[in-house]
Amino acid sequence: MIDLRSDTVTLPTPAMRAAMARADVGDDVYGDDPSVNRLQALAADMCGFENALFVASGTQANLIALMTHCGRGDEYICGQQAHNYMFEGGGAAVLGSIQPQPLTNQSDGSILLADIQSAIKPKDIHFAQTKLLSLENTIGGKVLSTSYLASAQKLAFKHRLRTHLDGARVANAAVAQNVSLADICQYFDSVSICLSKGLCAPVGSILLGDEQFIEKAKRWRKMLGGGMRQAGVIAAAGELALTQQVERLADDHYHAQLLATELSQVAGLSVELSRVQTNMVFVRLDDQHEPQTMADALLAQGIKIYPGRDIRLVLHKDIHRRDIRTIVDGFKSCLATS
Ligand SMILES: *Cc1c(COP(=O)(O)O)cnc(C)c1O
Repeated sequence: MIDLRSDTVTLPTPAMRAAMARADVGDDVYGDDPSVNRLQALAADMCGFENALFVASGTQANLIALMTHCGRGDEYICGQQAHNYMFEGGGAAVLGSIQPQPLTNQSDGSILLADIQSAIKPKDIHFAQTKLLSLENTIGGKVLSTSYLASAQKLAFKHRLRTHLDGARVANAAVAQNVSLADICQYFDSVSICLSKGLCAPVGSILLGDEQFIEKAKRWRKMLGGGMRQAGVIAAAGELALTQQVERLADDHYHAQLLATELSQVAGLSVELSRVQTNMVFVRLDDQHEPQTMADALLAQGIKIYPGRDIRLVLHKDIHRRDIRTIVDGFKSCLATS
């Protein structure tokens, strides 16, 4: 099966399985798990932060970050398309009593600085208090430039806002720009990173911040049910995600370029090549084809996609160079018959 739905479907590598089997473990709620401690130290070091916290998921990492930066009645600014606004069940509002202030994402994924500036509420009893600017990188497969991040940070600093990066796929952004994780993370007070997407660990995310932030975050993690015991079994895979899988993302990006170029020449599909910056390809299906029929036909050929008029195809470790041809041929034959 060629599964293009997401990079979350990646399976752990044999090296990860072996590391998990032999991992030294302890009770991480007491801070006693050597494998978790090693992963957290490694992540903090790679990203240029004082400390890090291993958490169950990206959703949990974002929620903990929002609850650590903001209190009841506070507000965070984010993109209208932000994962921590759109796809996390409204957790910040439901569990944190934090109000989101979503703003339009431009076609490059950024939020206009002027929009951010005018959304910051004055100190007045009528308003929620704006405390945090939350950005996402990559967003929809697109990379925010470091110069944009620098100006967003400057604006936030001027208005005494804290900054959070939902960096679920920040490693893709770093590889695409040929910069280090720390080069991107330096503009933020906190960053969340998914180890279980393109980096192919089975479970887990990392939340980064300074000592004080991580101390507070640990309390929220416990309260949210995220204090894990012998978590070193999964942290061992997370360590290899950071040491062995980051540079490999360049293959996924290359495959995305190949696939986009090929599909852009197929009648019945349109592909915006400028949108292909990392491991995602967005394909629009012409009106004469029905999305569900198309998805069913592809599935019969061993290719899994989410049905839709705008189809997101995600490249990852378990899709190889030779699969690109199979995918393109699959689309061609399904378009011819559906
Ligand atoms: C996947 C994702 C998350 C959430 O991660 P989970 O581990 O699935 O909870 C958060 N933000 C972004 C941008 C993501 O793509």
